[in-house]
Amino acid sequence: MSGVKDYVNTRVESNREQIEHHVREILKLIGEDVEREGLLETPARVTRMYEEIFGGYEVDPRDVLGVTFDENHEELVIVKDIVYYSQCEHHMAPFFGKAHIGYIPSGKIAGLSKLARLVEAVTRRLQVQERITSQIADIIDEVLKPQGVMVVVEGEHLCMCARGVKKPGSKTVTSAVRGTFRSDAASRAEFLSLIKE
Ligand SMILES: [Zn+2]
Repeated sequence: MSGVKDYVNTRVESNREQIEHHVREILKLIGEDVEREGLLETPARVTRMYEEIFGGYEVDPRDVLGVTFDENHEELVIVKDIVYYSQCEHHMAPFFGKAHIGYIPSGKIAGLSKLARLVEAVTRRLQVQERITSQIADIIDEVLKPQGVMVVVEGEHLCMCARGVKKPGSKTVTSAVRGTFRSDAASRAEFLSLIKE
């Protein structure tokens, strides 16, 4: 996501000491020696990582789209291969992949980098892939009021959660469809073929 400034979770920042303490306690409880060299800085590193990977809590995703008006463009707009990293809310384990967004505007459009920003705001939290997918679609639907929006999210889950044991490297694909994409199979097919190129 080049050009996109990371959100920082300032709540983590201000609770740093407590979070470090609890990470250290967990390390002890799993049988680790928290005094050994490799672990000395681990609680602080985990806490700094939380500032970044939970940065989405700092922002209302509805505020990031930066709407502009263009009455003339009513053709399909696609932004694909938006890389995201998120954390499964069931295990606090990472999942990551790519999001693809397509929408047909009706007067309002969003800057292309703002769609990446929206993905970041929604994914840098505890999440499940299905909700990421529907939230992106719903927020675009709500803010831009397009004729239609379609979102496809691919994810690899390190916890192998929610669907039983999966083979390493297998991908979960989720989609959300709103507006004209629901009734128009040709629009859906156009979007799906364009994100595969
Ligand atoms: Zn999980």
